[in-house]
Amino acid sequence: RPWNFSAGPSALPLEVLQQAAAELTDWHGCGMSVMEMSHRGVQFTQIRDEAVADLRSLLSIPDEFEVLFMQGGATAENAIVPLNLIGRRSAGKADYVLTGIWSNKSYAEAQRYGDIAVAATSGQEKVIDGVAQAPWTWYPDAGEWKPRRDAAYLHICGNETIGGLECAAWPSMASLGAPDVPLVVDVSSHFLSRPIDFSKVGMVYAGAQKNAGPAGVTVVIVRKDLIGHALPACPSAFNYSNVAAAGSMFNTPPTFAIYIAGLVFKWLRRQGGIEAIEQANIAKAKALYSFLDQSGFYVSRVQRSARSRMNVPFFLRDESLNARFLEEAQAAGLLQLRGHKSVGGMRASIYNAVPMEAVQALINYLQDFERRHG
Ligand code: PLP
Repeated sequence: RPWNFSAGPSALPLEVLQQAAAELTDWHGCGMSVMEMSHRGVQFTQIRDEAVADLRSLLSIPDEFEVLFMQGGATAENAIVPLNLIGRRSAGKADYVLTGIWSNKSYAEAQRYGDIAVAATSGQEKVIDGVAQAPWTWYPDAGEWKPRRDAAYLHICGNETIGGLECAAWPSMASLGAPDVPLVVDVSSHFLSRPIDFSKVGMVYAGAQKNAGPAGVTVVIVRKDLIGHALPACPSAFNYSNVAAAGSMFNTPPTFAIYIAGLVFKWLRRQGGIEAIEQANIAKAKALYSFLDQSGFYVSRVQRSARSRMNVPFFLRDESLNARFLEEAQAAGLLQLRGHKSVGGMRASIYNAVPMEAVQALINYLQDFERRHG
């Protein structure tokens, strides 16, 4: 198969697709496809339980956190988070760090539910290490975030998929003078690419369709004491209390998506777990950024310390070659490299299922294209 650099839905491990194909019409001899079985039956209960257990083991999720499988994607979660959390403190406040398109969407959605403020933003130019960084190409230092002490939570986007920015290290909220404000992180596009320090967060959530599985399931990992404060207007299917009490089966869950995510979790364990996959991701990102940095033909515009390991936007200095670059890339078996329309240029998403071999094939192509057109 060609290499797939899509930002999402994105490449899945071939082994997972093959296993799903082999089991498609008859799961483990039960005579049914996973798509056809009752979510309350013994088979699916086993699939759900194993998925939760494997995820807990992969990320070393502490017992005081619930793992929930929900629907609506990270976009719905932008509303579900304030609906569930903003009521935990009487002021009805929540604060957001703005770093690009996804965090801005989260912030805009939350406005409907309370007193929402900006704790920090990279929406203006900033000179860093002598380089003038354009808005949304850098990540504000955690030391400069200004959460209100009585906010119900502070929200960040851990990895801005479109801009290609990643928050390198999450601060402890105590270090920001707001120990009672839990950090809530949209980890959609770097979930399972690196460990999560659960001592620093109250909650993380991710649409599955990048590193965790197919679209249709949203993973929510939330500290138990944050559950139980939903606003009266919160739809019952989106109330964390209900979803947690029912083991993610308050209503029919996205069974097939949970099953595939479970296969991805087992695949990750076979790769050596999160620490091993993180090392692979570091090596892949280093190879690609090093190549871009030494080239005069391509350019990466994201501030170095904020560069995402997962999503690598880059530009051809001569943008008139863009269409040709993409056509020839496709012919060379390198798919979905077009940048997001709001940013332009190119973007290589190098999630867990994209191996070093694919990154090397991309670098070889970049080199060859430069040699022919540079
Ligand atoms: N947050 C981030 C960081 C994303 O990358 C995306 C989608 O790409 C979303 C939120 C929205 O996710 P969904 O389409 O699952 O609602």
